[in-house]
Amino acid sequence: MRAARCPSTATSAPASDEHTRKPMSDLNARVNETRGILERIARDFSPAVFASSLAAEDMVLTDLILKAGLPITIFSLETGRLHKETLAMFDKVKAHYGYDIVVMRPKQELVDEYVAKNGLNAFYDSVEMRKGCCYVRKVEPLGRALAGNKAWITGQRRAQSTTRLELPVQEDDAAHGMAKFNPLADWSEDDVWTYIRDNNVPYNDLHDRGYPSIGCEPCTRAIQPGEDVRAGRWWWENADSKECGLHLVDGKLIRIKSVAPA
Ligand code: SF4
Repeated sequence: MRAARCPSTATSAPASDEHTRKPMSDLNARVNETRGILERIARDFSPAVFASSLAAEDMVLTDLILKAGLPITIFSLETGRLHKETLAMFDKVKAHYGYDIVVMRPKQELVDEYVAKNGLNAFYDSVEMRKGCCYVRKVEPLGRALAGNKAWITGQRRAQSTTRLELPVQEDDAAHGMAKFNPLADWSEDDVWTYIRDNNVPYNDLHDRGYPSIGCEPCTRAIQPGEDVRAGRWWWENADSKECGLHLVDGKLIRIKSVAPA
């Protein structure tokens, strides 16, 4: 089991023994800055949506958005291949905040066509097959979820992987014709878990079982201590190809032009 980052395990070992925590004033400043970004999005980019994968980072943003009552719609892509623990997050959010996350599902005819042609688990065969599955189950539904909005928000952080090292807080997402915000871009994993613990934010049980990054069940495994936090995602692929296409343009990883500082 990897070194615990999550609240439940942190209670059995003091956080200060587990990892070096930043002074609370640093995190408070970061939270206030993030809150300000979300308020600006709600004010200047309405209508705006937040694409939540129901992972830890997304729960931080969910907590900030819902507690502030910001008019930002939260949706999630229900691919049809999620863990039961991830599916349980819809009810957890409803119970904790009284909020129904908008569920976006793939078009059944596209799923049927992909499976009939390639097989249910063809994504293990090649990067192209995997991206084809991600397109049907994630990218196409994302396009429908984003349509008609001025901005969308993600819980991505720079420290999550080599493909996100230059992630800006605000981008011009030309592919979708709107602004894209990554308000947690400069948050650390410790920041995320400190916020979750201190604010009693509900989170996916898989985080307690060695899953720092959670995607579809057949494409995500637990990681070992010392492994990269994204090592459990599409673990059979090269690290440079590990994006699902939600943040790609024409199939290429593109760090779209940053248009403004945080
Ligand atoms: S993560 Fe795996 S199962 Fe989910 S859409 Fe992508 S290839 Fe398909």
